[in-house]
Amino acid sequence: MSFHTLGCKLNFAETATFQRQFSERGFATVDFREDADVVVINTCSVTENADRDARKAVRQALRRSPGAYVIVLGCYAQLRPDELAAIDGVDLVLGAEEKFHIMEHADPAWRKDQVRIAVGDVADAADFGVAYSAEGGARTRAFLKVQDGCDYNCSYCTIPMARGGSRSENIERTLEHARDIIAQGFHEIVLSGVNVGDYGAGTDTGFHDLLVRLLDLPGEFRVRISSIEPNLLGDDIIALAVANPKLVPHFHIPLQSGSDAVLRLMRRRYNTRVYRERVEAVLAALPDAAIGIDVIVGMPGETEEMFREAYQFLVDLPFTYLHVFSYSERPGTDALAIDGKVSPQERARRSSMLRTLSQRKRRAYYDRQLGRTLQVLFESGGDGSVSGFSENYVRVSVPWQPGLENRILPVRCESLGKDVVVGTVLEKPVIDGAYVALPVVGA
Ligand code: SF4
Repeated sequence: MSFHTLGCKLNFAETATFQRQFSERGFATVDFREDADVVVINTCSVTENADRDARKAVRQALRRSPGAYVIVLGCYAQLRPDELAAIDGVDLVLGAEEKFHIMEHADPAWRKDQVRIAVGDVADAADFGVAYSAEGGARTRAFLKVQDGCDYNCSYCTIPMARGGSRSENIERTLEHARDIIAQGFHEIVLSGVNVGDYGAGTDTGFHDLLVRLLDLPGEFRVRISSIEPNLLGDDIIALAVANPKLVPHFHIPLQSGSDAVLRLMRRRYNTRVYRERVEAVLAALPDAAIGIDVIVGMPGETEEMFREAYQFLVDLPFTYLHVFSYSERPGTDALAIDGKVSPQERARRSSMLRTLSQRKRRAYYDRQLGRTLQVLFESGGDGSVSGFSENYVRVSVPWQPGLENRILPVRCESLGKDVVVGTVLEKPVIDGAYVALPVVGA
């Protein structure tokens, strides 16, 4: 059988879990580009392009394996199951809740005699399905799903309709999975979710409690928060990162717009003053921390003046990099009713301006690392070099030598390459932290 995943890290983590479930039943997995008897496609619906990619993936799978039993699930499946079921050859469409019971819904005989849709009301989605996945199949970083769904109501966003309300697994079970990940030899756990900082909403434990317990686990590993809303990034979480280097100094904080008027149209839960104050709080406590930001351009109602204001806010803000998204109309969202549509050409222009700004800021940040020693988790090598990410999310490359892959090692940063800092591996760890870098084999 084969799997194909579109969209976010959460989808990848969930696909990895479906794969384990099938493997326990004796199914062998082949590459998605190969012929397969059963195909599972985990879709995304964050933009119109994502929907198109999902339909394309289904058609590709059917062209390759016309007789395959095809299961489609994920956000697009929850939101518009009929569109997927209408593709000739699709056998099963599963919704946000039903996908966690994939084995019960699939026809045990894998018969292709009729398409079945099992998609309930997303408001009833209560299952969680703890999941984790390895990046690129290597045992370096594991994406651990700790939270799902969202109770916020951002006017442009379709995710609450696709994934349901905010929910999380309890701490004990989450820790069980973290222990499992560490025992398998992963050195970095990336805490993933739709709204990770909302972990434990509705219970008496919160995200800070989870972090404290996680950081307390024994082993040579570090923890990265994939993304956290500014209103949920409290001083207590920042203080944890100061006190324990296992929690890396890298915060990805969605902003979406640097204009207060646009933030109101988006129904975000903060304004630019609050946002700036959070970034300053991080940098006051951790001056070398990386700050990543999500921004959306071309939201309906975003005038040229508002965009200029947002742009200037970002120029003045000390951040490291941006993830820039062009607004995409999503059926069922309130943003569709907002006046002042921005043309696709204008969205592209604004997006390009911000991407250029991001490159400039990232370059300046990388430049500031020269002369510093960073703790790099090495991934895979090639062309005589091997690279990985540092604790503060700098891509660092060193000349290849055996034994570097999947190790956290101290590297002195020496020069700038293209989108990378080039350095030399030091033999001894410089940060006297809770994890200890291993000596370089063969050094
Ligand atoms: S916080 Fe807003 S943008 Fe993020 S998932 Fe929730 S509703 Fe969507």
